[in-house]
Amino acid sequence: MSSTAVRVSDVEAEVASGGADAGGADGDGADGDGADGDEAGIDVIAPLFESARVSVRTACSALHPEALSGPDAVSLFSSVVEMLRVATSAKMSLASRIDSSGVSRESGYRNAAAQVADIEGVGMGAATTTLLTAGRLRECRSTGEAMANGDLSEAQAKAITAAAVLAPEREGQLIESARKKSITELGDDCRRVRAASARSDPMATYKAVHEARTLRHWTDEQGALCLQGRFTTDVGANMVASLDALANELFEESRKAGAKEPLCGYRADALAGLVTGERDSGHPAAVVNVRVDHDSLLRGYPVGTELSEIEGVGPIPVPKVIDLMSDAGIKVIFFHGEDISKVFHFTRTINASLLTALQHRDPCCVVPRCGATRFLEIDHLVPFAEGGPTTISNLARLCTFHHGQKTNEGYTLWCDKDKQWHFDPPPPFGQEPDLGADLPKQPHDEASGPLSSAQAPHKPPGSPRPPPLFELE
Ligand SMILES: [Zn+2]
Repeated sequence: MSSTAVRVSDVEAEVASGGADAGGADGDGADGDGADGDEAGIDVIAPLFESARVSVRTACSALHPEALSGPDAVSLFSSVVEMLRVATSAKMSLASRIDSSGVSRESGYRNAAAQVADIEGVGMGAATTTLLTAGRLRECRSTGEAMANGDLSEAQAKAITAAAVLAPEREGQLIESARKKSITELGDDCRRVRAASARSDPMATYKAVHEARTLRHWTDEQGALCLQGRFTTDVGANMVASLDALANELFEESRKAGAKEPLCGYRADALAGLVTGERDSGHPAAVVNVRVDHDSLLRGYPVGTELSEIEGVGPIPVPKVIDLMSDAGIKVIFFHGEDISKVFHFTRTINASLLTALQHRDPCCVVPRCGATRFLEIDHLVPFAEGGPTTISNLARLCTFHHGQKTNEGYTLWCDKDKQWHFDPPPPFGQEPDLGADLPKQPHDEASGPLSSAQAPHKPPGSPRPPPLFELE
C-alpha cells in the first residue's frame, strides 16, 4: 500500500506542476506507459479513483442533514454539485472510451449504450444521450474543460455541445451563457445557434423531425395513461396554441364556478376534449407568434444571431415561416437586428381596438373630397389573399362606391409619406405600363401606403418588387 501511496502523490505533484508543459507536448503522441507524459496509466489512475471513491463515501456517510443550518446545507449542497459535475465529466470520457474500445461487444452487449445503461441502471435512451454528448465533448474541448472544472452541469454540456459541434466559433459564447442564464434560456440560445449555423440545414432537420414524428402512450404504475410525442415546430406550436387557448377557457370557466386546479390539468382536459370531439377547436383564438429577422426572410435562412423561430417553441426554417404566413392566427414579428421593426397579425377578423383606431383615423371615406360617412367598408390595401396583413397601416375605410371602383375598376388607393391619400384612375386604354394583365393588381403594391411609402417614390412604375410583406423600412 505504501508504494501505491507514493505513486499517487507523484501523480498529484506531476499534475500540479507539469500541466502547463504537457499541453505543449501534446503533439508528441506519447501513448506509452504515461509515467513521464501527461497521461497517467491505470496503475496510477485506479488508486486515485479508489481513494476518491472512499473519501466520497466517508464524507457522505458522515452527513446528518438535520443537524445542519440552512446556509450550511446550501454550502455542502454546492460542494456535492461540483463533485457530481466533475465526476460526470469523467463519466462522459469513460463512456466515450468504452464506446471506442469495442469492449461492449466482447462483453456480450449489443453495443456500448447497452453496457452503459446496464452499469448505470438507466434506460437505453439515457445511455445513448450520454454517449452522444460524450462524443461531442471530444470535439468541444472548452466545454469539456469547463465541465471537468465543475462549471457546467450535464444538461448544460449536452445543450452546448449539440450546438457547438455545428458552430464551433460560438462555443465560448454559449459557455458564457450557461454561467449567466437559466438552463431554459441557454436551451433557447443553443437552438438559435444550431438553426443559424452554416453547417446546419434547417429544412433537412425539419424533414428529419417530421419523418421521425411520433406519439407513444403507455400506462404507468398508478394505471395512468401517459403520452409522449415529437412534432415539427409549426405543428407543435399550433397544437400548443389550440390546447392552451381551450385550457385557458376551461380554467376561466371553473374559476368562475369557484374551482381552482393547475392549468396543466385543464390542458389535459383540453386535449381529451379536442381529440374525442367533445370540444370544438374552432372557438378559442389560438395565436402563434413567429419571430423572424427581415434579413433572414429575404435570404431564406438565418445567419449569426438572426432569428427565425416560433416564440416559446423553437427555431423554424424560413421557408416554413413563409408557409405559415397564410395561416390565420399567426402573428409574425419582424426584427431588424435587436429591434422589432413590424408586427403583422395574419387574421382577417378585425378586433375591437383595431376597429376603434381605424374609425378614429378614417372618420369618413379616405378618397379625397368624398367625405361619405355612412356605410363605410374596410379595405385591405394589399389584399388579404395576397398576404396583406390586417394591421392599421394596411387598412382604410372606403364608401361602397369607391370600394367598388378600387375592387372592380382598377382604381388605385395609396398613401404618400405625408399621410395624404390618393385615388388614381386606371391609365387610359393603350397607355398601360408594359405589364399587361397584371395591371389591376399591380397598383395594390403601390397602394400599400404606410407599408411601403418610403420606397415607393424611388421605384420606377411597373418595376418588379418583392411581395409587399417583405418591404420594410
Ligand atoms: Zn367615397
